[in-house]
Amino acid sequence: MTARMAARYDAIVVGGGHNGLVAAAYLARAGRKVLVLERRHVLGGAAVTEEVFPGFHISVCSYVVSLLRPEIIRDLDLPRHGLEILPLDGTFTPMPSGDHLWRMNDHARTRREIYRHSPTDAEAYDEYAKAMVEMARFVKPILSMVPPDPFSFDLPGFARLADLGQRFRRLTRGQQHSLLQLMTMSAADMLDQWFETDVLKATMSASGIIGTFLGVRSPGTAYVLLHHYMGEIDGAFRSWGFSRGGTGAISLAIAGAAREAGVEIRTESPVERIEVAGGRATGVVLKGGDEIRADVVVSSADPRVTFEKLCPPGTLDGDFLRGVRRFKFRGSSGKVNLALDALPDFTCLPGPGAHLRGAVSVSPGVEYMERAYDDAKYGDFSRRPYIDMVIPTLTDPSVAPPGKHILSCFVQYAPYKLREGTWDEKREAFGDAVIDTIAEYAPNLRKIILHRQVVTPLDLEREWSLSEGNIFQGELSLEQLFFLRPVPGWARYRTPLRSLYLCGSATHPGGGIMGASGRLAALEVLKDTGGGGRA
Ligand SMILES: Cc1cc2nc3c(=O)[nH]c(=O)nc-3n(C[C@H](O)[C@H](O)[C@H](O)COP(=O)(O)OP(=O)(O)OC[C@H]3O[C@@H](n4cnc5c(N)ncnc54)[C@H](O)[C@@H]3O)c2cc1C
Repeated sequence: MTARMAARYDAIVVGGGHNGLVAAAYLARAGRKVLVLERRHVLGGAAVTEEVFPGFHISVCSYVVSLLRPEIIRDLDLPRHGLEILPLDGTFTPMPSGDHLWRMNDHARTRREIYRHSPTDAEAYDEYAKAMVEMARFVKPILSMVPPDPFSFDLPGFARLADLGQRFRRLTRGQQHSLLQLMTMSAADMLDQWFETDVLKATMSASGIIGTFLGVRSPGTAYVLLHHYMGEIDGAFRSWGFSRGGTGAISLAIAGAAREAGVEIRTESPVERIEVAGGRATGVVLKGGDEIRADVVVSSADPRVTFEKLCPPGTLDGDFLRGVRRFKFRGSSGKVNLALDALPDFTCLPGPGAHLRGAVSVSPGVEYMERAYDDAKYGDFSRRPYIDMVIPTLTDPSVAPPGKHILSCFVQYAPYKLREGTWDEKREAFGDAVIDTIAEYAPNLRKIILHRQVVTPLDLEREWSLSEGNIFQGELSLEQLFFLRPVPGWARYRTPLRSLYLCGSATHPGGGIMGASGRLAALEVLKDTGGGGRA
């Protein structure tokens, strides 16, 4: 097909996920002419709200928010563009024994609840919370930092590393020790050092495995636990919350700010190829043949999509491509979204109540969690999975018809690679396993389901372009973080092709609705191209 030439832009952003939109907004605020091209019919990528069933506006993928960088909320004035975060109150864990554990945002009540299970743990909980806040304070500035490059002569990078070293030296011995443990231990082993209550350890360790193909006893998961803890001390919201209108409303608020700054945004515009000439990206070709030229191409798609599917063969050197191929995706999660006629009724705490307004976690014990991983290790979905549920309609009734509810179930493990059969064959069996598991605690569930949507890792790959269905565009394991994300030597949003940049969650600081990758990438683009303006 003959290519048709269109207008020329300073920058094209591939993908209208929240990071792509953040990058576009910052570039446009600095005076650049920017075009965002999103392949789906709707903006947001994995931070998206869709009317999956009539009247039910579902956060199909991500469902809660915490880490969105306060500087982005401020710079882009997101509340004026519709961003509103509503509190998510605590975590309720039903137990097979008929008891439960309910941690609330109210520290004193949580302490009393833990005391009911173990007076020793109630004491330890205060100490633990203090230690985690200190650790999070130490690590948190890294989220807003371009990683240094220890593999090259990078003076500003060395200065940042030295600063980090100084801050490490200023920690107490105990804090230094805790930090090293967090970086190396498994979530369950680390929590064993603090607590004795099994259900408490299991529920807390769950944040250590989200988005990884690791079990709660696998080394390295303690750090992921900290990654999720960081939002809890965030100056902006201080805890996890719902976005009014679903997580897609976050992306739409960012899109609003981007459009106001002059960004042009097109949906249903899949990029088929990134044009490369003389070692530079010069524009893109859309499916259908339209060619659009730009000085800079910023891709929010993951590295496998960007470098192996969109870049023409032969334009990247072998070493770099080997690094891209080594980057681990290994999707391990799925999602089951249910439209309900009424609220689930938990045997251990019957009736509607505040316990349903937060997260409801199926994580009754550490062994349960590890067995869920055992299924996945050998190529099957967990027969009794870890499930993190929320009922957003209790906090934001606008997302469903009056009196109806949404039960959003994040499920692990759902390994991308199955030993037998395909995900298309197993989708309904997976959905059944999730519903059977929840029904053990809330027996009325089956009767109140109006509709169900089962999202498998294969769906995440096919529909959201997330390679192997990894929810974070690549595992958040230690060997893939900071200056190693996504490829050692290429962690600073640049790529071996001049004027091609990455800005998605495959780059530092990684997954979650943070916007940090988009902002940091845009600032690096501006640095390279003589940036200025208001960014
Ligand atoms: C099931 C699930 C649950 C999650 N839960 C949470 C949660 O509760 N809280 C949280 O903070 N995080 C959660 N996450 C993670 C979080 O949603 C992601 O890390 C984040 O949304 C990624 O944003 P991004 O902009 O970097 O990338 P993406 O959202 O992946 O955006 C990339 C965009 O690029 C587009 N694209 C790809 N290829 C092309 C192409 N060739 N042409 C044009 N466009 C293209 C894609 O369609 C997509 O819109 C979850 C993710 C999933 C999948």
